[in-house]
Amino acid sequence: MAAIDDLPPLREVIAAHGLSARKALGQNFLLDLNLTAKIARVAGDLSDTDVLEVGPGPGGLTRGLLAEGARRVVAVEKDARCLPVLAEIAAAYPGRLEVLNADALDIDWAAQLRPPRKIVANLPYNVGTELLVRWLTPPEWPPQWDSLTLMFQREVADRIVAQPGSKAYGRLAVLAQWRADARIAMTLPPEAFTPPPKVRSAVVHLTALPEPRFPADPEILSRVVQMAFGQRRKMLRAALKALAPDIEDRLAEAGLRPTDRAEQVPIEGFCALARIMARG
Ligand code: SAM
Repeated sequence: MAAIDDLPPLREVIAAHGLSARKALGQNFLLDLNLTAKIARVAGDLSDTDVLEVGPGPGGLTRGLLAEGARRVVAVEKDARCLPVLAEIAAAYPGRLEVLNADALDIDWAAQLRPPRKIVANLPYNVGTELLVRWLTPPEWPPQWDSLTLMFQREVADRIVAQPGSKAYGRLAVLAQWRADARIAMTLPPEAFTPPPKVRSAVVHLTALPEPRFPADPEILSRVVQMAFGQRRKMLRAALKALAPDIEDRLAEAGLRPTDRAEQVPIEGFCALARIMARG
């Protein structure tokens, strides 16, 4: 297959810079640039878009994003060992790559990018869910991103796109699908990474909806959902008992059966209950 750019192959880059992967930083690198370009394409047309990439590492996905035409990439990397390699990529794409040596959990990411903004990342497993929850729960909606294209362990990806009635359905599915369209765009075997992780991975693509699917106060909804799934084996009337003394009446008013369990309740049902709880 044709090379996506004129920079050296990633295996050479990693060897030349002695970039051995560190487990503590969740480092599983993608070295196939045709694969990283394919992941970049999941994010759609990038020519008019600033992209946030968390954890560029040796830059495989960064190169994919730039080769696919991203207007600008802001890449946040905690591991300072990667900076010289990333500087070489920045030199090959003048004015289009900015690298921040920082912890992605500590930065005000949106301030670094001009709209429209997309987030594309092969996330470090240890902070992936935490970052996703933050991106899904901003103070205002619509959020400051148009779409998220994110690599997760397959099991986390399944929880994001899960439907009611399945074991994977829980808080993450409600949070994600209440205000975004979410789908699994690709699955990857462990061998796609160096070193290979123990589990399969998947790329999830989320597109922000202009408005939530159903009206609800985000904080009340979050509390209801957290309580309901906190004791997911219990019936709703028991799991949500602490919410209100007349919880059975409120469940009935929301169109929910008090004997159902959280995993049977569609997002619409949780939103209806959150609206009833908002009355005090
Ligand atoms: N994007 C590269 C690729 O696809 O080959 C590397 C992906 S690797 C799974 C995750 C990257 O995130 C590593 O480079 C790691 O150093 C970086 N990282 C880990 N924790 C981070 C954090 N809190 N903030 C920013 N980067 C982090």
